[in-house]
Amino acid sequence: MGTLRFAQPTALPNRVLLQDRLIQTMARAERAGSRLALLYIDLDRFKLVNDSLGHPVGDALLQEVAHRLQATVRVSDTVSRQGGDEFLVLLDEIESADDAARVAQKMLDLLAQPCWVAGHELTVTPSIGISLYPDDSTDMITLIKSADIAMYQVKEGGRNAYQFYTGDMNERASERLALEHDLRRALERGEMLLHYQLQIELASGRIVGLEALLRWRHPVLGLVPPERFIAIAEDSGLIVPIGEGVLHEACRQSLAWQAAGLPAIVIAVNLSAVQFRRAGLEDSLRDILTATGLSPHLLELELTESVVMNQADATVAILTRLHDLGVRLSIDDFGTGYSSLAYLKRFPIEKLKVDQSFIRDLAHDANDAAIVRSIVGLAHSLGIGVIAEGVETREQLDFLRHLGCEEAQGNYFCRPLPPAEIEPMLRDGIPLGKHPATH
Ligand code: C2E
Ligand code: MG
Ligand code: MG
Repeated sequence: MGTLRFAQPTALPNRVLLQDRLIQTMARAERAGSRLALLYIDLDRFKLVNDSLGHPVGDALLQEVAHRLQATVRVSDTVSRQGGDEFLVLLDEIESADDAARVAQKMLDLLAQPCWVAGHELTVTPSIGISLYPDDSTDMITLIKSADIAMYQVKEGGRNAYQFYTGDMNERASERLALEHDLRRALERGEMLLHYQLQIELASGRIVGLEALLRWRHPVLGLVPPERFIAIAEDSGLIVPIGEGVLHEACRQSLAWQAAGLPAIVIAVNLSAVQFRRAGLEDSLRDILTATGLSPHLLELELTESVVMNQADATVAILTRLHDLGVRLSIDDFGTGYSSLAYLKRFPIEKLKVDQSFIRDLAHDANDAAIVRSIVGLAHSLGIGVIAEGVETREQLDFLRHLGCEEAQGNYFCRPLPPAEIEPMLRDGIPLGKHPATH
């Protein structure tokens, strides 16, 4: 295990060898009446590493991962590489499902520790699906497929975790496949559209921005929310053309409003981790700005805290290049991840968006209030703006004003709406009753 001199990236048994061993182990387990577990491991957003740092770094990282996976199992177990960033681990003879869970947890813990590869500090997280013999199946192919399906459920649930296969996952897995299939056609069929939500300056009640939020009008399912398809789009790479479509449409809409005599207002667009780490983002952004003619300072890119804090050194460089293009940058869902203040100071960002989970109970939960207060203080000391997301009630709004938060966004002012319904508010402002300063 110790030596890492590999001709191929990981020098682990491959797919064929694993299947061979699986057949033997299954036969032995059948005779002995024992159990075995199969762990399907996929590294989360691994493509980003290859795309941003190159294949040699990706390969070195895979070696390190293989090494750590091997450190979590017994000699009699088999760690194999399925190709790409997928591994299959066969746990020979386990007593119960708990044993498999323990190994999976160990893998999560071990991989959570950053790796140093070619001068980069990298963290990869795995999504792990587990199937059991003979509980889930006595057929090899079905057993592998079940672990794979369970792994996909982990991805859907937010990644970096493990899950055991359950019967009802089959249905959800085929639903996911169908959704991915439909997603491939959604763009060309014009099924994607944008809704917009107002951002309000609390001191004046003025509309200071609009966030573009993606919607998919599925021919059968109706309006599908982004939560259901963004992860699928990221994993399949479809997020790249979809994301470019979003940027283009938001810029076009902004100019159309200006042409109609409405005030020029900043439009915020959410950027996926995949878009952010991909080489060529700047070029495509520059092309879109040139093609639409939108002035860059009217476009704001929202990146989540976890995206910017991952590989923070590289982030500084990317953000600086985007900033140099003239676009504004903000950090979305702030407070949910881990932020390094040292890096935060170096990011050329315009504002922090306080995650809506802290706003919900703001007026009643002292912890939430303390968190929001410190985020507001942090933003102010960094000399940047701060906006609260998901504001639903007057009470929350008044509380935010009291805490010194200067902007807010949420259903209290307006839900995300199609452009035609946003337009009257751009013209006339928000209804007087919703004005933050009136009581
Ligand atoms: P986000 O960027 O944090 O967007 C805010 C979400 O909160 C939106 O959900 C919005 O509809 C919802 N929201 C706004 N006000 C309220 C409120 O008062 N109460 C509650 N409970 N929710 C409120 P939505 O539109 O479903 O989008 C979910 C997430 O999907 C977004 O979170 C963003 O991360 C992602 N997303 C949306 N559009 C895009 C896109 O074009 N590209 C990418 N990559 N991601 C997108
Ligand atoms: Mg956002
Ligand atoms: Mg958010």
